[in-house]
Amino acid sequence: MSAKMISERAITTHQLLEYLDISRYTLYGLIKKGIGFPEPEKVGKSCIWDKKEVDDWLEWMSRRGMQVKGTRNQKSELAGKTFGKLKVIGDSGKRKSGRVIWDCRCECGEKTTAMSSQLNNGHKKSCGCLHGAHLKANYDRLTGQS
Ligand SMILES: [Zn+2]
Repeated sequence: MSAKMISERAITTHQLLEYLDISRYTLYGLIKKGIGFPEPEKVGKSCIWDKKEVDDWLEWMSRRGMQVKGTRNQKSELAGKTFGKLKVIGDSGKRKSGRVIWDCRCECGEKTTAMSSQLNNGHKKSCGCLHGAHLKANYDRLTGQS
């Protein structure tokens, strides 16, 4: 560990996930998004994070109305589940009124996003292609092309 990092500020990835109460997937999402999430320090094969930097970043995010902490439970709720043609990949990291917006992949290969309520109540079952397929089927039936 470098001298710049004071030991009590240094936390492991596991501790970071516990601290933020988010999943590993969510953490990687935050890092990949390029929204200023602190860079870890590599120590051997593991990563060490500066808790102070993480706290500063959390404060910066919350000033912009973005909630990061405590999304693990919401994450485990839907990730990996399938709704119609949509498979929930994971937390997109985005929030609408504090609710998780999920990254989903449609059977047709398109990516889309959906909120828990849209998935749970069946309002969203595809990227939109399902609706198109229905229209096509109806059109074919009405015009005697099926
Ligand atoms: Zn689709």
